[in-house]
Amino acid sequence: MVRIPDKNLGYQGADDDMPRIVHCIFCGKQIEPGTGLMYVKNDGSILWFCSSKCYKNYLKLRRDPRKYKWTLKYSRIR
Ligand SMILES: [Zn+2]
Repeated sequence: MVRIPDKNLGYQGADDDMPRIVHCIFCGKQIEPGTGLMYVKNDGSILWFCSSKCYKNYLKLRRDPRKYKWTLKYSRIR
């Protein structure tokens, strides 16, 4: 039996000093170190995106990732 930890919601408890592996805020996929896009909002919160596709969908189009099949969050509904 294999248990897969549910880490799609990103880092909440800071156990490590530096989170090396982050997940895309939109599609939920793991972002390789050195790739992706880090967006810092005016209030200081950091959003990670794996690609400009996710960036546009989240910030410009304001889409809900749960409604799109290509995101990992889609399958988490029911
Ligand atoms: Zn993504």
